[in-house]
Amino acid sequence: MSATAGDLFIVSSPSGAGKTTLIRRILDDPGLGPTLHFSVSHTTRAPRGSEVHGREYYFVTPEEFRELEERDGFLESAEVHGHRYGTSRAEVEERLARGIDVLLDIDVQGARQVRSRIPDVVKIFVFPPSRPVLEERLRARAQDAPDVIARRLSAAAREMGEFGEYDYAIINDSLESAVDELRSILVARRARARRRRERLEAILRTFPA
Ligand code: ADP
Ligand code: 5GP
Repeated sequence: MSATAGDLFIVSSPSGAGKTTLIRRILDDPGLGPTLHFSVSHTTRAPRGSEVHGREYYFVTPEEFRELEERDGFLESAEVHGHRYGTSRAEVEERLARGIDVLLDIDVQGARQVRSRIPDVVKIFVFPPSRPVLEERLRARAQDAPDVIARRLSAAAREMGEFGEYDYAIINDSLESAVDELRSILVARRARARRRRERLEAILRTFPA
């Protein structure tokens, strides 16, 4: 990837830990949101509550999903909680090449596939403060049936056991602290010397030889 390419970020967590909430806060941040692209995934699961096709997900049939897969249209894809999910290449590759940062909300299987293709990816894991709090958040969200909640809770410990593969861990207890930490990670990445090379060289050119 060239020195001016955008950065790719992955945010993963067990369901209900708060990654959607954190990502929304970052996208609404006037200092970060406008220069960050949230990659909208494809999924075969049904829309929840207020979810809108093309905003939270592209809701597709299993056949449509397979077609895209056969055309090598996915950067990664996985089965999560009984449904197919995938990140289309169209959401990511051309934007990174244009220097735009891209944020993926994907699970640990997908994160592993992305890192094998794009080793520079920054992986962030969001932990809930405890099992009872995670359960309470899933119930309070009130968008999933009890059997779906039970399935997601039973997967949580296994998913969280993969934290060692991640670069950063955010414990989402106080929402404000968690948002600050996520913002700090994104901002620090943008401040890398390599990323700023063109601007740094332009400043250097203002100095007499
Ligand atoms: P995920 O995207 O990880 O499945 P959500 O962002 O949907 O999780 O959050 C699950 C529920 O927990 C939502 O109802 C959300 O408002 C709530 N929530 C998220 N973060 C916090 C927090 N720090 N404190 C209290 N409630 C939270
Ligand atoms: P939900 O159905 O609650 O929106 O998401 C369930 C899980 O699927 C979450 O762990 C979420 O990160 C993951 N997920 C969402 N989109 C993708 C995707 O494109 N690829 C992969 N691998 N996981 C995804």
